[in-house]
Amino acid sequence: MWNSIRRFLYPPVFEGQSEKTRHARLLHYSTVIIFSFTITFYYFNGQFGTSAEKDCSWILFSVALIQVPAFILTRMGKTNLVSFLQLSLIWGTITFFGRYAAGIHDVALMIYILVIISAATLLGRWAAVSYTALSIGAIWWLAFLETSQRLLPMIGTPLHIALDITIVLILAYVIVSFFVNTLTAALKESKREMVERKRVEAELENMVLKLSNEITDRKQTLAELQYQAITDFLTGLFNRRYFFEIAEKEFSKASRYNRPLSVIIFDIDLFKDVNDTYGHDIGDKVLVHIGALLRTMTREVDISARYGGEEFILLLPEMSCASAELLAERLRKLVQENPIKVNGEPVHVTISLGVASKEENKTVSSIDSLISKADQALYKAKHAGRNCVVCHVE
Ligand code: GH3
Ligand code: MG
Ligand code: MG
Repeated sequence: MWNSIRRFLYPPVFEGQSEKTRHARLLHYSTVIIFSFTITFYYFNGQFGTSAEKDCSWILFSVALIQVPAFILTRMGKTNLVSFLQLSLIWGTITFFGRYAAGIHDVALMIYILVIISAATLLGRWAAVSYTALSIGAIWWLAFLETSQRLLPMIGTPLHIALDITIVLILAYVIVSFFVNTLTAALKESKREMVERKRVEAELENMVLKLSNEITDRKQTLAELQYQAITDFLTGLFNRRYFFEIAEKEFSKASRYNRPLSVIIFDIDLFKDVNDTYGHDIGDKVLVHIGALLRTMTREVDISARYGGEEFILLLPEMSCASAELLAERLRKLVQENPIKVNGEPVHVTISLGVASKEENKTVSSIDSLISKADQALYKAKHAGRNCVVCHVE
């Protein structure tokens, strides 16, 4: 029970609406302060007031009474409505009292200014402009009443003056310090929010950076995997699987446009002996060396791949049989004349090459058949004594 009373007396909190919560806190405390002051005033007025002051008691009582719905409406989140009500009440009351006491003008001015500041904080620019205009009007109206001797001075005995001034000073102090405190708290809150927002922004930036790094890493891994999937790990040439993928496409292109296309298959001669003489590692180095030599001979459009253990294959788009034969011969010579050096000693190897072509405006049934023709030519080259080029003829 005490807990729920305590909770009721605390300012309300509206989740995710910091501005509204701030306004509600301000209105919550202001209803309590205004209620306490008006009730105290009402009491003292009844006890010590002059008859003119007692005439105003109903206003004090009404203002106190209105604080009850204002308090409840604040809890319901009607902050704009309550702000308007409170500011208008303060404004109206001070204007009304201003009529009765000439000495209250300065205080009235101060409270007008507070109402304007509050309106600007709570309700925005238009409310502040309206209250400013109304306040200017009120001051001129009071000046008019005073110069035409229509004000009823409520100042009586010196004791009354002392009491009035004391209460007005306390009231002014409480209102000013309340607004200053509330505005400082609001300022602190918005500073804290700004720091928090910056922290969140930095965190987000960090996350984005991490993610983009991860994406880059994954792209790299993917590119590596893609490279590995199509490349022969030893020579760095394309592998057999990828060669067929491209060869199919090139073949159908050449067939559709009746363009020439050649294939060269070559095999290292007596490679088994190289392995037996120098060891498997040196054999591998020879394969890498041949791959590098092959790369120096090919054009950008040519596809060179490792076809099997010590067999290589070349696909030559737009190349006729005669040109392919020339290229094969140059390749044979290149390998023969450029032995790899192992421990300063040259390891001589030769290659045998088979060439097959689909000539311009001629048809070949498939890429497999073209490759098989090149293979047959290679077989013939081996039988012809190795280290030579044989062209397949129909
Ligand atoms: P031919 O002139 O008739 O082709 O004789 P060859 O000895 O080259 O033919 P064969 O097919 O009998 O031997 C091929 C050898 O190639 C057998 C195998 O050990 C070797 N070889 C295949 N792949 C590799 C490889 O990746 N590294 C090494 N070092 N040797 C390999
Ligand atoms: Mg072989
Ligand atoms: Mg061989």
